Amino acid sequence: MKIPQSKIDEISASLDIVDVISAYTPLRKAGRSFMGRCPFHEEKTPSFSVSQEKGVYHCFGCGKSGNMFTFIMDTENVTFFDAVKMLADKANIIIEFENEPYDPDRNKIELYYDINRRAGKYFYDKLMSREGAYAKEYLNERGLKDDTIIKFGLGYSLREKDALYREFENDFTLEDLQAAGLVLAIGAGEIRDRFRGRLMFPIFNESGKVVGFGGRRMYDESTEEAKYVNSPETKIYNKSKTLYGLNFAKQSIKQKGYAILVEGYMDLISLYQNGIENVVASSGTSLTQLHTKILSRYTKEVVVVYDADLAGQNASRRAIELLVENDLNVSVLELPFGDDPDTYIQKNGLDGFEHLLNNRLSIIDYIAERYDAEGKMNSPEGKTEFVREIIGLIAKMRDAIKRDFYIKGIAEKFSVYESIIRKELDSVLKLKSRGLTREVSRETPQEKPKERTYKFSAVELVLIRLLVDSDEKTRERLMNELELDLIKNDTVKKIVNYIMMNIDSPEKLALNQLFNEFQDEEGKSIIGKSLLDENYVMQGGRNRNYMNEANQVLSQLKLTHIRNTIKEIEAKIKSIDSSSPEVLEMLNTQQKLRREQMQIENSMKTL
Ligand SMILES: [Zn+2]
Repeated sequence: MKIPQSKIDEISASLDIVDVISAYTPLRKAGRSFMGRCPFHEEKTPSFSVSQEKGVYHCFGCGKSGNMFTFIMDTENVTFFDAVKMLADKANIIIEFENEPYDPDRNKIELYYDINRRAGKYFYDKLMSREGAYAKEYLNERGLKDDTIIKFGLGYSLREKDALYREFENDFTLEDLQAAGLVLAIGAGEIRDRFRGRLMFPIFNESGKVVGFGGRRMYDESTEEAKYVNSPETKIYNKSKTLYGLNFAKQSIKQKGYAILVEGYMDLISLYQNGIENVVASSGTSLTQLHTKILSRYTKEVVVVYDADLAGQNASRRAIELLVENDLNVSVLELPFGDDPDTYIQKNGLDGFEHLLNNRLSIIDYIAERYDAEGKMNSPEGKTEFVREIIGLIAKMRDAIKRDFYIKGIAEKFSVYESIIRKELDSVLKLKSRGLTREVSRETPQEKPKERTYKFSAVELVLIRLLVDSDEKTRERLMNELELDLIKNDTVKKIVNYIMMNIDSPEKLALNQLFNEFQDEEGKSIIGKSLLDENYVMQGGRNRNYMNEANQVLSQLKLTHIRNTIKEIEAKIKSIDSSSPEVLEMLNTQQKLRREQMQIENSMKTL
């Protein structure tokens, strides 16, 4: 089935990209565009820019760009087809389908679900087999009942290097098994299972499909390997938006009106087995912006229960900050030092846990207790530091009424004048609105944006820019002079070819449309950089000389091509017998190329 282009255009025209994206990350008008914090990477200061006019977005931090359809594809993990359907719903547009073969991308996604589902079954069978006896015993020793093992689909991966691969190779290609995250190909044709000798925890998405695995090390002699190994991000597994256990917890969260957030798979499973079902964990990564967004679709109340050690305390402070920032009401359940939710509930049972739950701390009391434990609450300096940290936290709340409530609370409880707190808060908020947030609260390391790097040259990007966005004469010259073979990057080649084929239909060259046409990461990245990111294009302002740029691009492409050919010939000469007659011929060609190279280099100087 294919969605007619006219429908896609209709949807683009009736929805505002700023509205679409605002549902995921708040945007603020900044000059001609809108800015916000990027939903695709963790950041404190906004570098995600949305152009309402052009209907596209671009992140200057991680380089992601696209239009409203690719945005939905990436944030909701759906195919283009489904993204169009979702946005059509939003716009109240009904889609009639053309009869055409299935979207291949969609088939792939179904295939990866299938592979992961079958792997889950395979690991479970192994756990129940003789080879899994040791792992099974371990689980039973840790108090897990068979029902629980079945419910969470726990399993075991054999210690051999490619047991799963051999089991699956007749049904799936190596490429697909790799893309699904289960198999690694490590040079020289060596194939290895990603998970070996591990206790396996299937990770489910919101609708209960297996999207990946977490594997816990089972044997001590393999301590050079990480204690936990997780599936990589795949087309169906996005770590920053997958909350472990949410599929099981949804109902209970809604019923109870709040969610319990824990750190580990075992914590969650153990609480669940003991009757606490409204519990979720972040999986394979620390809590992210998107996790909190997803959680807030189910509830506004979150109880944080992290390990009672220093690492746990730091992680919980970071989680609190993120949750508060996203307008959730947060409280903290404190475990006795050295315990984690799993060990605690095993020792004290449901009653013991519920007792702690009923005595959970507000974030203010929790942080006060931390300061107290460090002996800081007795000195005026310590107390000031404490008030500053709390104010930093309050400043992150978007709701003014909530902020007010907290200010009154601290003033009363810690006998500080309300006016002092308000003054301090005002100055933090002012700094924040100027984007200069002083780190009032504890420093949290900012995750570096992960930029995928692809090999394409700046010249190739300028070429795309000029083809789409220059004057008629310049475009004509490029159309006449450009040889596609001079372009090294295949995706750039495809994009340039598409542009050249459609040069007379400007509507097909609109940014919005280009993003529909090239939806893979590399394609989006190239289009975004060449057409939206000023860092990647030659500066010229209003008076830029397009023709001059075009000439430089053409010369540069030829030059690179010649240089590479010369290098190739050199390598070839070295590899064959020097007395061979071919050598002379090659040397001649090289000579000719060198002369051509010089000519171009000279002509470029005069440009
Ligand atoms: Zn980004």
